[in-house]
Amino acid sequence: MFVCMGAENLGVEYLAAEARAAGHEVSLAFDPAVFGGQLMWDIPALARRLDLRARIAARAASEKPDVAAFSCLSGNYAWALAAAGDVKAASPSTKIFLGGPHPTAVPERAASEPVADAIAVGEADSTFAMMLERAGEGPRAVGDPPPGVWEKLPGGGIATGGPPRLVSDLDSLPFPAKDLFYERVPSLQSHYMIMSARGCPYNCSYCYKSLEAHCAPGSNPVRRRSPENTLQELREAKARWRLRMVVFRDDVFTLNRKWLERFTEGYRRDVALPYFCYTHPAALDAGTADLIKEGGCSFVTIGVQSADEAQRREILNRKYTNDQARRAVALLKERGITVSVDHIAGIPGDTEEKLMDAARFYNEMRPDRLLTFWLTYYPGTRIMKTALETGAITEKDRERIESGGAGHRYSGGGAGGLTPAMKRMPAVMALASILPKRMAARFLDSPLRRLVPASFAAHNILLFVNAIKIKDPFFMYNIWFFLSRKRVP
Ligand code: SF4
Repeated sequence: MFVCMGAENLGVEYLAAEARAAGHEVSLAFDPAVFGGQLMWDIPALARRLDLRARIAARAASEKPDVAAFSCLSGNYAWALAAAGDVKAASPSTKIFLGGPHPTAVPERAASEPVADAIAVGEADSTFAMMLERAGEGPRAVGDPPPGVWEKLPGGGIATGGPPRLVSDLDSLPFPAKDLFYERVPSLQSHYMIMSARGCPYNCSYCYKSLEAHCAPGSNPVRRRSPENTLQELREAKARWRLRMVVFRDDVFTLNRKWLERFTEGYRRDVALPYFCYTHPAALDAGTADLIKEGGCSFVTIGVQSADEAQRREILNRKYTNDQARRAVALLKERGITVSVDHIAGIPGDTEEKLMDAARFYNEMRPDRLLTFWLTYYPGTRIMKTALETGAITEKDRERIESGGAGHRYSGGGAGGLTPAMKRMPAVMALASILPKRMAARFLDSPLRRLVPASFAAHNILLFVNAIKIKDPFFMYNIWFFLSRKRVP
């Protein structure tokens, strides 16, 4: 049994497909946890009231799965441990596996959690079936665990299989087991989530994506499926599910122009649906923008993250100029592609003035949507180490973050020293992005902006208005997802 909260999880769908291929039965217990902070809303009182842990435990009590596997981000680690404790209490023979970015960042801590029987560091595609076999053998399991796996020993202590290996040939993987989520939440199938590549070459200091490559030395961090393999998955998906849009979850979809050329022709011929993807200011030129437009790309998210080049380069390790960022957004807009820009607030050194400079910068750029996230310190990231060294966060903060209290990016994250004027800036920036350009410029320069509430709710309401304004293709998807709670776990 996989136990997930917050959103469809492609990693879990891949592991489920591996488990099935090895002859195991799989099931899913899923809590959409709409107010749990993984999506836009972090409202603890509502999250507690709507929590589905008791129903997940009831499922475990009736199914008595051999293994309950949890995919853990920092934001849901504490929830996963609590849910794992409930599952163990309901079904004592069930083995608990933990995997995902948080255990990858702090494997000693995760493997030592009293409820954990084994953890997987990095990608577990090539080891998950072995983990299941070894769990079935119980104390008789012999030999070291496979690479990247840490197991509790029956007499106490932990055995490790050494550093993980990243999957080098993505075409060798079975297609993800989409039915696991789609049967629980049928509305998810309208926006088909897929990855044509894994890994990212950019190494931003705050991003946990950099960890996988570092924990698997010698592995190629960026791996790509062939266009044929990616298209075959989409052809099969289109025949089986009700797709309205394809959502490429590649970290940066536009990295490889030659690949895109080969892919686009087949996509237009066999799939021909609008698609969403992520790009990066340093990975988009006019030819690439033409190609994605030609293929049907209708919505792109691009991380700009700061309007201060030095801050962006030195603190975030993102190396491109403001001109490059402006040009990338313009290339997309000129082609009629809806552009959502990500910005990070609360970076060490941020002030209200810096955030106002950013607001003016984005008002010149005019993306269709501006999403401002609060800097969130994830364990193992370079920015967290720097913040500890410079005193921006303390040892106590580190302990809180490593135990799963990193905070959520919409509701304050890990940024310290926020003044009320700074707290209101995400809403100010969202409001400016909704207003016409000249009106927004006047608003930003007027004292009126101080009337905007410094609350996360105000920011969320403005994002909601913006979603309607731009006919956000994820709007109804999110509403249906919100309503899906009735059907799960
Ligand atoms: S470009 Fe995106 S995915 Fe890649 S390291 Fe930076 S933040 Fe992470």
